[in-house]
Amino acid sequence: MSADTVERLRQAGVDVVRICYPDLIGVERGKDVLLDSLPRVIEHGLSFCQAAYYTSPQADVVPVPGGLDRGLPDIVIKPDLATMQELPWAPGVAHCLGDAYLPGGPPFLEEPRAVLKAAVARLGELGLAAVVGPELEYFLLEPDGTRYDGGPGNAYIVGNKGDKSGHLLRAMRSLTWLGVTMGNHEFSPGQFEINLLHGEPLDAADRAFRLKTAVKELARADGLNATFMARPFNDEGGSGFHVHLSCVGADGVNAFADAAAPYQLSEQAMHAIGGVIAHAPALAALLNPTINSYKRFGPDSLAPWLNDWGLDNRSAMLRIPPERGEATRLEVRLGDASANPYLGIAGLLAAVYLGIRDKTEPPEPLDGYGYDPPRAPVLPMSLPAALDAFAADAELSEVLGKEFTAAFLAYKRDEVQRFSRYVTDWEFREYAYHL
Ligand code: GLU
Ligand code: MG
Ligand code: MG
Repeated sequence: MSADTVERLRQAGVDVVRICYPDLIGVERGKDVLLDSLPRVIEHGLSFCQAAYYTSPQADVVPVPGGLDRGLPDIVIKPDLATMQELPWAPGVAHCLGDAYLPGGPPFLEEPRAVLKAAVARLGELGLAAVVGPELEYFLLEPDGTRYDGGPGNAYIVGNKGDKSGHLLRAMRSLTWLGVTMGNHEFSPGQFEINLLHGEPLDAADRAFRLKTAVKELARADGLNATFMARPFNDEGGSGFHVHLSCVGADGVNAFADAAAPYQLSEQAMHAIGGVIAHAPALAALLNPTINSYKRFGPDSLAPWLNDWGLDNRSAMLRIPPERGEATRLEVRLGDASANPYLGIAGLLAAVYLGIRDKTEPPEPLDGYGYDPPRAPVLPMSLPAALDAFAADAELSEVLGKEFTAAFLAYKRDEVQRFSRYVTDWEFREYAYHL
């Protein structure tokens, strides 16, 4: 197997394999391995300092239990050879994802791919397999950090009019291997969206994860930066991570479709909606995982604000797109682009599993424009509030795993603590001279 892989790659002109894994917050980390060393890596895995799961630009190593306190032990990444893909923009380089293990073999339970696999397995216990279609929005930045000056730009403006350097077309053509289906200019100048073909959850999350790094790589090659930060600019809206989701039963048929039911949505679809709404405050911690995430929420933003659902209603947190039959699905609009795609999708599958298992009834769907006056509970309005909801949601953490929940809360509470002590520009302008 390993000899075949090496030979196939050599024939294709590959001499470096980039072996990568998602860290806790969804940043790509990895090592470049020369092809001749690949057989050893396939056999033994690739060792990393476990602390690399928990580093951030402003805190070298975030103190998560089992990391610093155990003396920065190893984790071992074993390449998942089924994910090997040549990078169209880097001749000779193949990209491969890996799974994390503790030294000696036990799985590293808090790694994002493992957390997602656990949620997929729980849905499987109900005889259901999820189908997931991710959409990601992002901004391009000029080298000085200002918005990409591509032209005026607005939703669905095509061609050079809003994208004078043709970034979007170049990116899409380099990303066909990720199942890119289409792309568009979003509402704000310099903001774009790329949609991915729906697929099995781990595959969809792998592709969304790879898309984020790939878009950054391609933007870099054009002398720009791409950001998936939730809301980078005060005068513009944010970037969403919308997730389309349905389930198929053992018969391979969409279990959310029922032509005879109200709204043509099956009981399982209604319970899935009920599950997402019941767990949304906790899900916000995974789908809106940064301090900045909560600056995207708000009325009149096309981002959610209230914990509600609606039929083809973009002002709701959860929209049911108008297609029915095999295309019957939920579009969860809660997430922003900064979410770790594995964890966001894992959280959603866990909520869908719990909703279907517990037969959770959803509230009535939103009728009309949902922002004004508010007709449903408000979502958490800050990261600390979402983390408290996540910590309190014992059912969700039972599905996602205690080790993961503890690590995620420790990492994110440290982030909140660091920020709470930091004096921002806004405070200085508001208080320094006036008070
Ligand atoms: N940018 C909006 C968001 O933050 C979504 C806009 C759209 O509907 O595509 O979720
Ligand atoms: Mg959009
Ligand atoms: Mg959408």
